[in-house]
Amino acid sequence: MAYKAQVYVDAKNKLDERRNNALKAQEMRHSAVLLKCPEIAEIEKEMASYGAAAVKAVALGSDAEEFVLMLSEKSLEAQRKRKELLKNSGFPEDYLDAKFSCSVCRDTGFHDGYYCECYKTLIKETAKKQLPFGHRLEECSFKNFNRFYYPDLTDPILGVNQKDHMASIVEYCKEWAKDFSRSSGGIIMLGQTGLGKTHLSLAIAGVVVDKGYNVYYNSVQNIMNSLEKEHFGRSKGEESIDEDLYESDLLILDDLGAEFITQFTVSQLYNIINTRMIKGLPIIISTNLSMKEIEDKYSQRIASRIIGNTMPLYFCGKDVRQIINS
Ligand SMILES: [Zn+2]
Repeated sequence: MAYKAQVYVDAKNKLDERRNNALKAQEMRHSAVLLKCPEIAEIEKEMASYGAAAVKAVALGSDAEEFVLMLSEKSLEAQRKRKELLKNSGFPEDYLDAKFSCSVCRDTGFHDGYYCECYKTLIKETAKKQLPFGHRLEECSFKNFNRFYYPDLTDPILGVNQKDHMASIVEYCKEWAKDFSRSSGGIIMLGQTGLGKTHLSLAIAGVVVDKGYNVYYNSVQNIMNSLEKEHFGRSKGEESIDEDLYESDLLILDDLGAEFITQFTVSQLYNIINTRMIKGLPIIISTNLSMKEIEDKYSQRIASRIIGNTMPLYFCGKDVRQIINS
């Protein structure tokens, strides 16, 4: 369970940038202070000399304690003087302090030998940003799933109350995401367009990434375009997505059936689904097709692989766009 290496590299770079920016800004404020109040430079020299003397005394050992105590008192006195000078020159008392984004770790990312909370958050945010469609994670969360409309009516096909049925599906997905592990199995979301399948699969992605897992989410159409380019040598140095498809902790295949179906795409789809299922790696598929249509369009062996390894969730209700237009 880990994100891709690039996530950590990018997060570290971002953290370094934050720290450097804070230090640069501090340096600029320092120059402004020295221009207005040159005496501060003298006090700072004094403070530095106390520090150097204390280090030297400690290194020499014997009876340094009293001397170091005296130096630290002198240093505190100098700091007080500096604060006063700053104030008298019209600057705030803390004007020369570096303003780090995180005061706990001072933008180093570590605190008491552990990852600081700010760094953990930054790593998660970076992992989300690197997902294709990662920018949609915020708008597609469990919290704002209520923008979909499910009537309080009996579904003519499933024979269940649509509103209650969809509430159970949302609950199932929430629990599934919360308890996610690399052996969570799979889900297939079936149903017409506009019923929230993409929204719910992205909501799951958001929770699973937050738990520290590596998720790959993309439409089947985009995936097949990339694989075709790669296979027929037209990828022009683009990074291969094989690792995402075969190794990621969770793979989400959005909108199966919207792509142009060929012999090549059918065999690629089988490889992906079969390999992941042999390894026991979770997969979520969303589709407007019925299981029968999946069997007809792809193959019986793909359909049976899916049936045997995923929990089917049948979405029902009315497409919000239809309601608005009617
Ligand atoms: Zn921090």
